[in-house]
Amino acid sequence: MVGIVVKGIAGFYYVKAEDVVYQCKARGIFKKDGIKVAVGDIVEIQLNEGSDALITEIKERRNSFVRPPIVNVDCFAVVFAAANPEPNFAIIDRFLVMAEKSNTDIIICVNKIDLGKNDIIDKLKSIYQGVYPMVFLSGKTGEGIDDLKELLTGKKCALAGPSGVGKSTILNDLEPMAAVETGEISEKTKRGKHTTRHVEIFDTAFGAMIFDTPGFTSFEVLEADEQELAHLYPEMQEYLGQCKYDNCRHIKEPDCSVREAVAEGKISKSRYHSYVEQIKEIREKSRKW
Ligand code: GDP
Ligand code: ZN
Repeated sequence: MVGIVVKGIAGFYYVKAEDVVYQCKARGIFKKDGIKVAVGDIVEIQLNEGSDALITEIKERRNSFVRPPIVNVDCFAVVFAAANPEPNFAIIDRFLVMAEKSNTDIIICVNKIDLGKNDIIDKLKSIYQGVYPMVFLSGKTGEGIDDLKELLTGKKCALAGPSGVGKSTILNDLEPMAAVETGEISEKTKRGKHTTRHVEIFDTAFGAMIFDTPGFTSFEVLEADEQELAHLYPEMQEYLGQCKYDNCRHIKEPDCSVREAVAEGKISKSRYHSYVEQIKEIREKSRKW
């Protein structure tokens, strides 16, 4: 029987197959191969009478993450706030590059629109509209949540974004049963968020599965390499291959079609700036080795 690993606790894995959750053990051999069953894995299980079911096979993964340890993310909802905290475009682009690199669908969620920062919202639109689907929402009032639901339906989704932007609040709006502790509550109880939680993926009433993960608040390392980076900016795709030099990195080279597109306003200056900074960072890192 094929199912999805929805939770793992203390050596047991909980696999949902045909609407039933089975407590399973994993076959020893996975450990030997260095493969560990993770939340999100699609697995083959064998039911045993009188004992725990056994995971006998892990299906090929679309992607996998270490922190948090989840696999098979179909879609990242990259969350930022219109204010409080104010969006940092370099950080937004870092999240986006990372999500592109992991081969997922991407939705940009601009939260806290109730704070009335229309100038910031317009700026975000001018940079990202047409590049990624955008949703404008308020976790507080519930505005826009239905738009987000529509885009997440049928997928295994994870929320990513800096702390304090409202990810836990949005998660609770998407599925009140999840009852995630938000910053507001943890401030009151003076406890760290998610201290006792396990990584889990849960079903929602609207037909998406959502990873309930405390993580994805930062991506410390930019894992892309120099020649790959431009491919992780969707709006650059149509210009790649038109530059004078095949190995053009679109920084200072002459006859660069990417820089021309920036000059003509076809690629946003802000996005191009992030690209250049990331190229510098990648070069810096390779020098250290
Ligand atoms: P997380 O760290 O990304 O999970 O953020 P939280 O969900 O814990 O939210 C951080 C803070 O922002 C909390 O005090 C929330 O009540 C508040 N917050 C979340 N969404 C909104 C919103 O749409 N509007 C406003 N004004 N505050 C919000
Ligand atoms: Zn170029």
